[in-house]
Amino acid sequence: MTTMLGVSLTGRRVVLVGGGAVAARRIGRFLEDGARVVVVAPAVSSAMKSTIAEHDLEWIARPIREGDVIGAWLVHTATGDRRVDADVAAWCEENRVLCINASDGSHGSARLAAETRSGDVIVGVVSDAGVDPRRAGRLRDAVGALLREGSLPLRQQRRRGIGRVDLVGGGPGPVDLMTVRGRRLLAEADVVVADRLGPTGVLLELEADVEVIDVGKSPGAHPVPQVQINELLVSLARAGKRVVRLKGGDPFVYGRGGEEVAACLAAGVPVDVVPGLTSVVSVPQAAGIPVTHRGVSAGIHVVNGQAEPSSSTLAALADEHITTVVLMGVAGLPRLVDAARRHGAPGDRPVAIVECGHTPAQRTTRSTLADVVTDAAAAGVANPAVIVVGDVARADLLLADPALVGDARR
Ligand code: SAH
Repeated sequence: MTTMLGVSLTGRRVVLVGGGAVAARRIGRFLEDGARVVVVAPAVSSAMKSTIAEHDLEWIARPIREGDVIGAWLVHTATGDRRVDADVAAWCEENRVLCINASDGSHGSARLAAETRSGDVIVGVVSDAGVDPRRAGRLRDAVGALLREGSLPLRQQRRRGIGRVDLVGGGPGPVDLMTVRGRRLLAEADVVVADRLGPTGVLLELEADVEVIDVGKSPGAHPVPQVQINELLVSLARAGKRVVRLKGGDPFVYGRGGEEVAACLAAGVPVDVVPGLTSVVSVPQAAGIPVTHRGVSAGIHVVNGQAEPSSSTLAALADEHITTVVLMGVAGLPRLVDAARRHGAPGDRPVAIVECGHTPAQRTTRSTLADVVTDAAAAGVANPAVIVVGDVARADLLLADPALVGDARR
């Protein structure tokens, strides 16, 4: 029979017997746990030699003796010789030291679990009878996949003082364009403070008692002022909650993430940021537009279309080697185009407007600086949309048949 224990090896003596491939694979786990590893082997592989050097480990370069296991908390034996491993296991038994015998699991008094980690959670697989590393590994991988999907109940049920805030970039919309880390933090969250844009689909997957607070903004209407959002995040964390501030795209690209981080830091609330796929790049991409392209565009100028065009924006719009990417720019488009034309941008410069990128409602309107205001109005272009100005917005840039490029979605 076997009992699975969560053992802390930090600072504890672990004796690794043998210097071959198995020992080299296993040593990393003990080192990660902060164990004081001692290697006993007459000779070691070159991989093991570099690990020993890198971590400045003690290496006893001779065959193992009974005395070597005394005083250890754990011994791992993988000498490649079953008799030696069996001797080591017997000495450990005698001296009440737990022993992992890599040559035959049933001889040792302990075995390593096949582990998968997600945040502070460790799930391990061991078998009660004999060893079957492949089955354990496959089970571990299956559980690991579920953990990464964020579909398992990772939420802490016991409060530990102050909570924390994680700003999570959700990408442009589809749940599978979020990061694995973002999904995990969502699965751990007590409260999710969400916006209008981004992967709102994940909110439906949260457990029923996870609180969702919608502070969504739409252009021109700011339902919850930013200071209040900052205060909300701080007060939730102070109440001990794990808070995810879910944002469309990337939190640090026109997401006011910087202000929220500053507010948390000022209040002494632990805060972290998980990057997301920003619409600056991913929404043009959804329409087959690379924001840079060798020989066509050497750089990107990103701008908030709600603001009066600055001199650097006007310079970018007039520069044939620069792609200008405009966010929040639908209402300000006529002003932008007018200013660009007056500052020397040619009327035939390609423009693409991509609405609702990476969603089923995605639509691309292609035009030129001369015609885009009329074309956008005729098409009824609306937010959210990314406007791309520059030669990369040409419909035939990547393929002869633009129908194959535009709006390509899986
Ligand atoms: N932090 C976000 C940007 C927030 S500003 C990011 O990194 O993507 C909001 C603007 O982003 C919108 O006005 C629009 O210009 C753009 N946007 C966000 N998601 C979009 C989408 N799926 N399709 C088109 N534009 C989008």
